[in-house]
Amino acid sequence: MRKIEHLGIAVADLKKSNELFQRLLGNAPYKSETVASEGVETSFFQIGDTKIELLQASTEDSPIAKFISKKSEGIHHIAFDVEDIYAEMSRLKAAGFEILNEVPKKGADRKIVVFLHPKSTNGVLVELCQEDPNPGNLD
Ligand code: ZN
Repeated sequence: MRKIEHLGIAVADLKKSNELFQRLLGNAPYKSETVASEGVETSFFQIGDTKIELLQASTEDSPIAKFISKKSEGIHHIAFDVEDIYAEMSRLKAAGFEILNEVPKKGADRKIVVFLHPKSTNGVLVELCQEDPNPGNLD
């Protein structure tokens, strides 16, 4: 793993949280994006070499809706940048971690991503992300 690519924060109201984080960080989000397959609306703030991803549920059965109703708003996941997601998946599988999806899926911000089950990582939802080699619809 190369660096922390971003931290994901679950929020109830993306518009309000965009304003809050803009006040906090001193800059505006550089993009907003809906990931329909995950039931989330996201926005991204650049902060130095890394990013903050705000996530709001866009459907009632979205993982973010479940997270907020079980816990509350707050840090939802930590994402690590990897060079070769398949190599990292087999390394981590062999090391005893539980990977939530068998195949990387398209995430926000032109990435392919997989998640590790938090029960194998001290309660922290871990995302691995790699630049999407076939981004398809560039924005
Ligand atoms: Zn993320």
